[in-house]
Amino acid sequence: MSRYWSAVVHDLTPYTPGEQVQMPGLIKLNTNENPYPPSPRAIAAMQAAAGEQLRKYSDPSNAVLKDAIAGHFSLRREQVFVGNSSDEVLAHTFHALLKHDLPLLTPDISYSFYPTYCSLYGIEARQVPLNAQFEIDINDYCQPCGAVIIANPNAPTGIALPLTQIEALLQAHPDQVVVIDEAYVDFGGESAATLVDRYDNLLVVQTLSKSRSLAGLRVGFALGHADLIAGLERVKNSFNCYPLGQVAQAGAVAAIEDEAYTQQTAQAIIASRSWLTGQLQALGFEVLPSKANFVFARHSGHDGATLAAGLRERAILVRHFKQARIDQFLRISIGTDEECMQLVAALKSIL
Ligand SMILES: *Cc1c(COP(=O)(O)O)cnc(C)c1O
Repeated sequence: MSRYWSAVVHDLTPYTPGEQVQMPGLIKLNTNENPYPPSPRAIAAMQAAAGEQLRKYSDPSNAVLKDAIAGHFSLRREQVFVGNSSDEVLAHTFHALLKHDLPLLTPDISYSFYPTYCSLYGIEARQVPLNAQFEIDINDYCQPCGAVIIANPNAPTGIALPLTQIEALLQAHPDQVVVIDEAYVDFGGESAATLVDRYDNLLVVQTLSKSRSLAGLRVGFALGHADLIAGLERVKNSFNCYPLGQVAQAGAVAAIEDEAYTQQTAQAIIASRSWLTGQLQALGFEVLPSKANFVFARHSGHDGATLAAGLRERAILVRHFKQARIDQFLRISIGTDEECMQLVAALKSIL
């Protein structure tokens, strides 16, 4: 608390990220980082970009990166927005597109940055409860609203909606922006990017942090109608004209282009997820059906916070949320097979 703070600062509830502990031998399954390294082509491109040319400002229009993303999704450059992480892209989205007279609809259990942005930008939100199976039910979103944002697959449940449901949501709100946060879509979900040409109210947000193993590079993007993108550009250019440096742009382009590598590592994670799910179920856990690079699981005989603390004593970090409805669950990021095996061994010894 400081008497020098602006009034708005007193009322903020900042987002709390998963712990970033540096400890030798620690198994970190708490922040959904990819256990595999980035594409070697991305690393080479970043090394090549880290030279004399850093003297100059980076390209404020991000043309090369936008073209790479547009090419990947068969869209045009005007339909692409890029930013310093998808968190930044989401922040600009809340600011530019989601503040209206009627409330923003968002699931009661979803990415906890959404309420944080609402408080930062003074947006009224109405939290729509997930159903008893922890699923988003599109029918619950058929009510007057200013805009809608959901994550698909949702976090921290990992449950994905099929594209037909996303399309139904878009059709139910022809006059509102519908934002689909697809941070985890490459691990088995269906992307709404294919609907961008047909729905001018759709904004799809993705990140290079998860499926492209570049959480430390901070690159995210949005896909949508050129008018939505132009709105985002206005906010971005009122905030920071150069959010992405040359190294980040070069690495992101190479990572997007190395689709074979993204597919290969995503398939490895999907295989590990299926193995881990079976092992957890054999130990008595209920595991929600995940299409993400994490699983969300609870044990009827063991308290979630106690399990997380027990794993921590064994140098394994998982994420536990002290939140109503989900405080018995653990969110466990999919690690390498070796890490998944060590997790299962640790849980066996605790149980
Ligand atoms: C990880 C995550 C993001 C943020 O990704 P960054 O690009 O690293 O900021 C956005 N949305 C959801 C649902 C996430 O889980």
